[in-house]
Amino acid sequence: MLTLLRNVELYAPQYCGNQDVLFAAGKILAIGHNLNINSELHQEIDGSGKQLLPGLVDPLAHITGGGGEGGFATRTRAMNLTDASLYGVTTLVGALGTDSISRTLEELIAKAKGLQQDGLSVYCYTGSYSYPVATLTGSISRDLMLIDQIIGVGEIAIADHRGSQLSVHELARVAAECRVGGMLSGKAGIVFVHVGDGKGGLNLLHQVAEQTDIPLTQFYPTHINRSQQLLEQGFAFAKAGAMIDFTASTNQACLDSGEVAVVDAVQQAINANVPLRQISLSSDGNASLPVFNDRGELTGLEMGTVASLYQSLCQLVAAGMNLAEVLPLVTSNAARTLKLTQKGQLAVGMDADMVLTTPDMVIDKVWSQGLLLVDQGQAVRYSQFERC
Ligand code: ZN
Repeated sequence: MLTLLRNVELYAPQYCGNQDVLFAAGKILAIGHNLNINSELHQEIDGSGKQLLPGLVDPLAHITGGGGEGGFATRTRAMNLTDASLYGVTTLVGALGTDSISRTLEELIAKAKGLQQDGLSVYCYTGSYSYPVATLTGSISRDLMLIDQIIGVGEIAIADHRGSQLSVHELARVAAECRVGGMLSGKAGIVFVHVGDGKGGLNLLHQVAEQTDIPLTQFYPTHINRSQQLLEQGFAFAKAGAMIDFTASTNQACLDSGEVAVVDAVQQAINANVPLRQISLSSDGNASLPVFNDRGELTGLEMGTVASLYQSLCQLVAAGMNLAEVLPLVTSNAARTLKLTQKGQLAVGMDADMVLTTPDMVIDKVWSQGLLLVDQGQAVRYSQFERC
């Protein structure tokens, strides 16, 4: 079935004005003014007064659930389809976190395949916080070459008491193996790095680039808005040509302990002349977030959400930023860095991952590879057991 979407304000993510978009079999076939279709086998949807955005690309989500840092009862639940689809996220990269014992890569791949069958596009990082890197096949490069979903290593932890306290040499070897596996498989082979609040910040990544032949761009560090100090280190890292990633999921306890809210972090980046194409946002969905009382004692846990990615986009727009300028932070920037060549942009030949919204950013419809997941703001597809 051909679908012709008429008269949308197209953000590709750059603003392209009023356009019609024709799609079928999961791909965008044509974009133009007043497209004419000589086929009775097509449906038309009137998009007048609406804007069309690329499906959001989330470079970090704990699709199998994360957490567990307060004991077994604090492990978070796995994701469902509508955790992403209702908020316009059509592509995710799943990762393990602190726990790579009760959470396994086998489970991660199985969950990715399940969400793919539900309609999303899902990729994975091999490994976890720890070093030596846990793999499925015995090596990072074999995982990259032999397992379709795996596009890199992550989130390997540095500057964090929960990490493996890697040396420069150890991290360089991980990056080298990931780089070669990426080259041989035609994938990004990126090392996605969890940066904690430890003293070193991003220093270890700079040391690898200085002391070995691995370029800084091999690393894609996240949680850069964790503190003002790390944010400023991140700006220097981005100005050196590499990507940085801000975490969208937050709560009051995180902000009280010094995390910089996404809107503030992006505004600071603009003020510091950091190119916005060097920045992405990730949800850290289904990670656990601490809650503290007035005395700083841990009193509970909340869960990060994939929804935070779209909510952050809305907050950036509400703060007066231009939609076309900030949209790459949640679409094309991560897609480019992760070499997801069919994702993050609306153009002929790209996957038909699209979000139709009102001018004030209320989501009407979401398609993932042409499949309608959300209609009139309501889910029309669910994961198998999510309503049980
Ligand atoms: Zn992390």
